[in-house]
Amino acid sequence: MSPAPRSPATIFAGPLRYVQGPGVLDGIGDEAARFGRHALLVADEAVLAIVGERIAASCERAGVDCATQVFGGEVTRAEIARMASAARTGIPDIVLAAGGGKGIDAGKGVAEALGLPVITVPTAASNDAPTSHIFVIYDEAHRIAEVGRLRHNPVSVVVDSEIIARAPRGLMLAGIGDAFSKAFEVRQCRMAGGNNVHGGLGTRAALALAELSYDILREHAVAALAAVDRGEPDAALEAVIEAAVLHSGLSFENGGLSIAHAMTRGLTGVRGAREAPHGVQVTYGLLVQFELEGRDPAFVEDMRAFYRATGLPQTLAELGLKDPAITDAELDRVAELTEAAVYWPNFERRLSRAQFIAAIRAVEAAGA
Ligand SMILES: [Zn+2]
Repeated sequence: MSPAPRSPATIFAGPLRYVQGPGVLDGIGDEAARFGRHALLVADEAVLAIVGERIAASCERAGVDCATQVFGGEVTRAEIARMASAARTGIPDIVLAAGGGKGIDAGKGVAEALGLPVITVPTAASNDAPTSHIFVIYDEAHRIAEVGRLRHNPVSVVVDSEIIARAPRGLMLAGIGDAFSKAFEVRQCRMAGGNNVHGGLGTRAALALAELSYDILREHAVAALAAVDRGEPDAALEAVIEAAVLHSGLSFENGGLSIAHAMTRGLTGVRGAREAPHGVQVTYGLLVQFELEGRDPAFVEDMRAFYRATGLPQTLAELGLKDPAITDAELDRVAELTEAAVYWPNFERRLSRAQFIAAIRAVEAAGA
């Protein structure tokens, strides 16, 4: 008799520490000192202007010396190798990765190349990268080339809400969009029996975090955007930062993704939409996912009310793909790229290209 097939493992992983609040950047030296006496800060020029001096001063107070590698702006294998080889002479113990999306991924790439732990310091809450162990590497033509993996998640995530409050509103909106879809994508991935980003099945905890993130955004997103307009953190913004950075990151990595994120691969293949921030591409993809799920009109209208209240895009034209409207050839290209995404199979049933394209057309018609 052959043995019964083993059921796959459920896996949950996350950062060792998560620190959020006004002014917490000034304590980053103590975070770094847990891992050694030599830190390497990776950030681009613009981010260095915001955080460079404060990180240096905090490290000095904590007895940690802090070298800097200036990130050139694109996360390529060559750029990671350049920064890593320049840093090797100083033998750092810990990498501090600061920035919006790409600066953090650049620092993760350097940490991986050097075999070091990483502390992430998001300067905007625009995406779910800070807590996760993966990072996106691009080619010289700025196309996504591969997904890199750290041995483990960042050892600490330091989110200074005063800095997030002063970042552009569009970045906070992208973070809200990226987080908003997670409850629906994690649920689809569970229904399909799909794997999470760690290669295991998702935990109930991942779904609970995604649903918590959704509840927080429904209650506080509009007020949080107003706080960003004022440039000052308040209770609503603190809640939304936690949803967009901690809950969104833990839920996608541990719960898995579905159509909304698969579609970002397709949207990066067409003019106009290509340049839209990841998080707003996700929210458009979520409308297409709702269409494929066969949601009833009252549900979709309730979602669209949230999109209107926050300013999230509901059409390809609002994403930037207009004059002319999307062509049949471009729709086919979006579908081809979306179907190639690893998250595409994480849906309750198999989807045909015709069904997917019909869903996009339906979303466009509803938004017109
Ligand atoms: Zn995302």
